[in-house]
Amino acid sequence: MRVVITGGAGFVGSHLCDALIARGDRVVVFDNFSTGRPDNVEHLLERGPQVFWLDERDVCDDLYVPGNVDAVIHMASPASPPAYTKLAIETLRAGSLGTENALKLAARKSARFILASTSEVYGDPLEHPQMESYWGNVNPIGARSMYDESKRYAEAITAAYYRDRGVNAGIVRIFNTVGPRMRADDGRVVTNFIVQALSGLPLTVYGGNQTRSFCYISDMVDGLVKMIDSGITGPINIGNNSEFKISELARIVARITGTKLWTVQCPVPPDDPRRRCPDISMAARALDWRPKVALEQGLRQTIKWFREHPLEVRRAARQWDAAGDKRWLWGKGAPVPVGSVPDPDPIYPLGDRTPGRAEQL
Ligand code: NAD
Ligand code: UDP
Repeated sequence: MRVVITGGAGFVGSHLCDALIARGDRVVVFDNFSTGRPDNVEHLLERGPQVFWLDERDVCDDLYVPGNVDAVIHMASPASPPAYTKLAIETLRAGSLGTENALKLAARKSARFILASTSEVYGDPLEHPQMESYWGNVNPIGARSMYDESKRYAEAITAAYYRDRGVNAGIVRIFNTVGPRMRADDGRVVTNFIVQALSGLPLTVYGGNQTRSFCYISDMVDGLVKMIDSGITGPINIGNNSEFKISELARIVARITGTKLWTVQCPVPPDDPRRRCPDISMAARALDWRPKVALEQGLRQTIKWFREHPLEVRRAARQWDAAGDKRWLWGKGAPVPVGSVPDPDPIYPLGDRTPGRAEQL
């Protein structure tokens, strides 16, 4: 098979490139490196341009590929909350113009099309676990709207190209995924906690009672490959269905890194989903897919990778120190741990922060 992957130099996309090339597929990547890195796929260049072709390109520009294409996987989009907050308009464009360009390419080549959608289309869900039939609870102009709504639009235009242009399209709703090659500075909870624990910094817990369910990257890639190979339209949830409180995640990261649990309590960001856990019965039925890697096992692999990349960790931690708080991560309106946190013992209660500080920013 010859597969085009937009956003293939990112965290998930680069692992998908590895898996497809390992089974004998040829891959073309379009990536503008806005949040991804050439390093993630550099090792594939030695396979030669017939097997792996990397094109630095924005998916909002027209996409041309000479020759046949069997599948187009559209993954290009900022994906971490700090990244899409900072790149709001770029995120909306990648989900709208970018998705249509990728769909047009699939239509021209009569190729299978897969949209990397997200659990964020459910917003702050009112149903648990989230089934694909749930329409979501989304604030269309809220703090996360640039991401949620771009992906909801991306799903809508994918459905339209399926219905009106006959594109063999499938939609995967990806839930929180972790593993090697995540950016240490991407601001997601797992990377923040790992960087902080390995750097002797307090773990920034935004609230703590909200839940997430973390899928290990090998399971995610396995699900994506099954989706490519199937003719299934979906939308279909792919994610791990073991649900954890964020405060619990902090404890687990501290334990695995062998560090003392030291947290700083921060306000919950606006529109932060309170519970997230996929119903994965459709993936089990339709794709015969189930996650195999438990959270702790996945975290151990991820932490091992970060230990092997100490510069990455140090740079992310230094950036943090230099800012003195988390404004660099979230920008305006950010949840900010207030004041210095010299005492490694207590969990700082919310009431301890300077009143109104976060609201002022
Ligand atoms: P990532 O930031 O590591 O990868 C995204 C890639 O897209 C990057 O390489 C980036 O440079 C590229 N990109 C962004 N905008 C682009 C543009 N306009 N043109 C070309 N390239 C562009 O993120 P990821 O975690 O690997 O996520 C990949 C996809 O999976 C995204 O679509 C994301 O929405 C989806 N997803 C990821 C998760 C997760 O937990 N990682 C969860 C839900 C959905
Ligand atoms: N979070 C946290 N501390 C951090 C970063 C994030 O407590 O340093 C919380 C965040 O508020 C959210 C959850 O962890 O409730 C997951 O955040 P992440 O950015 O990883 O992804 P999301 O699932 O929100 O897209």
